Amino acid sequence: MKARYHIAIQGIVQGVGFRPFVYLQARNRNISGYVNNTSLGVEMEIEGETGALENFLQVVQDTPPPITNITSIRIDPIPLHFDNKFSINQSIATGKRSALISPDIATCKDCLQELKDPSDRRFGYSFINCTNCGPRYTIINEIPYDRHNTSMSDFQMCVSCYEEYHNPLSRRFHAQPNACPVCGPQVFLYDGEGNLMEGVSPVKEAARLLKEGMIVAIKGLGGFHLTADAVLEKAVKRLRQKKQRDEKPMALMSPDLSAITRYAWANDVEKEALLSKERPIVLLVKKSPNNIAPSVAPGNLYFGVMLPYTPLHHFILNFGFEALVVTSGNLSEEPICIDNEESFERLSGIADYFLIHNRDICIRSDDSIVACVSGSLRQIRRSRGFVPAPIFLKEPLISTLACGGLLKNTVCLTKENKAFLSQHIGNLENPEAISFFESTINHLKRILHIEPQTIAYDLHPDYPSTHYALKQTQLSSIAVQHHFAHMVGCMAEHGLCEEVIGVVLDGSGYGLDGRIWGGEVFTGDLSSFERKSHFEYLPMPGGTMAIKEPWRMAVSYLYQAYGEDLLEKPLPFLNKLDSNKIEILLKMVRQEINCPLTSSCGRLFDGVAAMIGLRNIVSFEGQAAIELEMIQSREETSPYPFETYNKNGVCLIKHHPVIQGVAEDIIKGKRIAEISRRFHVTLIEVFSGICSKIRDESSIEKVVLSGGVFQNRTILSGMEEQLKQKGFKVYSNILTPANDGGLSFGQAVAAHYMNLK
Ligand code: ZN
Ligand code: ZN
Ligand code: FE
Repeated sequence: MKARYHIAIQGIVQGVGFRPFVYLQARNRNISGYVNNTSLGVEMEIEGETGALENFLQVVQDTPPPITNITSIRIDPIPLHFDNKFSINQSIATGKRSALISPDIATCKDCLQELKDPSDRRFGYSFINCTNCGPRYTIINEIPYDRHNTSMSDFQMCVSCYEEYHNPLSRRFHAQPNACPVCGPQVFLYDGEGNLMEGVSPVKEAARLLKEGMIVAIKGLGGFHLTADAVLEKAVKRLRQKKQRDEKPMALMSPDLSAITRYAWANDVEKEALLSKERPIVLLVKKSPNNIAPSVAPGNLYFGVMLPYTPLHHFILNFGFEALVVTSGNLSEEPICIDNEESFERLSGIADYFLIHNRDICIRSDDSIVACVSGSLRQIRRSRGFVPAPIFLKEPLISTLACGGLLKNTVCLTKENKAFLSQHIGNLENPEAISFFESTINHLKRILHIEPQTIAYDLHPDYPSTHYALKQTQLSSIAVQHHFAHMVGCMAEHGLCEEVIGVVLDGSGYGLDGRIWGGEVFTGDLSSFERKSHFEYLPMPGGTMAIKEPWRMAVSYLYQAYGEDLLEKPLPFLNKLDSNKIEILLKMVRQEINCPLTSSCGRLFDGVAAMIGLRNIVSFEGQAAIELEMIQSREETSPYPFETYNKNGVCLIKHHPVIQGVAEDIIKGKRIAEISRRFHVTLIEVFSGICSKIRDESSIEKVVLSGGVFQNRTILSGMEEQLKQKGFKVYSNILTPANDGGLSFGQAVAAHYMNLK
């Protein structure tokens, strides 16, 4: 029996080879009709034997082309049409636009094969791509996603490329960045002064220079990288010095998995992530010994590693590198460079050579970072490869723009049941990052066709993101408490809307009482929360200076624990400090000068790290806390004593018993590895105990874990395990970062439900 269906499909279905795929599947089954792109997605009519139609629909849904992401499909029977062929029709533009834009995709297997095939016309061509791979988000200026709206508009296709582009049977049918050596972008090598190096093969010469220990800036997909041969300590050290990146780990890129597994361990989940089309940086445990230069990731158990994701990367790594250091092309905290001229200017003091090309990057997008913890892959920095794929929500929301926090800033736009979390923007203390922040908002609004009605921002009055939000007077604005945003983000990821217990362990965030919160237990839903428990307040001598200088926190904790007697404690950490500096600090604490109060958990990590002698000053946020996690032993140990007490219905956690426990262990000469372990175990005990107490009173069974401290693997997996043993259902961040990179997502969702209330 014959039938005809009208089918409407939404999702990432444009520019991904979906129509040619449909065309082939229909032809193979003697199905007639048509398929075309619309502003909403893809529309088709299919007519044929019912069995063939059923089979066709199954294949379309189960095995579409690799990048396709079908989010909804609607099938309606319609009268027969008796047409005799299947065709791909012209695109139809309707008023409403909701076609999704694909993120950038790593070079596919087919393209790689052609890249390495001397008989192929794209042999060794650094910009090979097809509908299954290549740049997307970073080359789009405007939608619909057509060539003239991308940075490929500068290049006119040659006859061969043009034919492929118009042939439904070609892998390059409507591949917007389609190009070849005759008609497409080219690579050039420049020296450090910006002079073009003529008469050399640019990539080959760059590889030779890297092996000589030179630093080469390479233009990638979402921005410039600074690269050096990762086995040459001298080169890596020099890169570190020039980039003013004192100790922060730098990422590696290796030609293939086997090269990676020579220097790092990778389980199946991690291998899959490395090979995925998103090609993020994956944090992998170092193998020892290994060939990688020690300055790549000093003081860290992990390497951040990725596989090549553009043809140019493949090409250069195949010159026999075990790994290249591939770090973002910027000076310390500035946004990554994307423009050729700009890179000559900003990177000239760092790079010895520039390997660049003439395809423009429309919007910068840093490499993403993921880590496998408790068996799940988790976002640490969600950026290139993932953005702008939406995160799906349980319910449609009022269109909202959420402005994020201060550090690791991202923004988030919502439309219906989709949240579009931006790429990593970075530290808004940096003026260049603020203009990147604004241009990202405008870019996303334009290409996603979103006009927000509401703007959400952090409660902190001085964040540049708050200032921006308050200037948008045409929108209704709403402030969202920092840790509530963390909690709601995690809930929304898991589709939770009922009351939960939220354990938010974090660095710092502005509290409802104007104090700096960060070690919090809430109960609440998506619209409101109650603060059930937190660390006792403690002075942060010097305010933000105390974040950069953990020794200040250590002295403040010790003063709380021992009062004026603290100086009599035989702690090596104190002896090494200048006694004048301690005295000035104590004066500040006693007289409450520039000493904001905090309940932060991150600061407690910092303080303990400084006390046990790890470091007094950090060169990046969270460094002392990370080192404290890294040095811990794995042995079984008992927690430090801890105490909580009730004040006006809030459970306050005293830190001084823990601090005294740590100090006594130090004085007894216990190994710092063991002290660190005990400290971790204590926190897990404290917070899982508080959850039990709250359950007794409220019978809430679900616990949400969020905040930057949950990047600590021991704390995350320890808490999960302990809480599950107690019968809780436990939820943690997977799709969005637990750190402030995920904050805007939580703000957007919270704003909607707060407004409804
Ligand atoms: Zn391809
Ligand atoms: Zn061509
Ligand atoms: Fe935070």
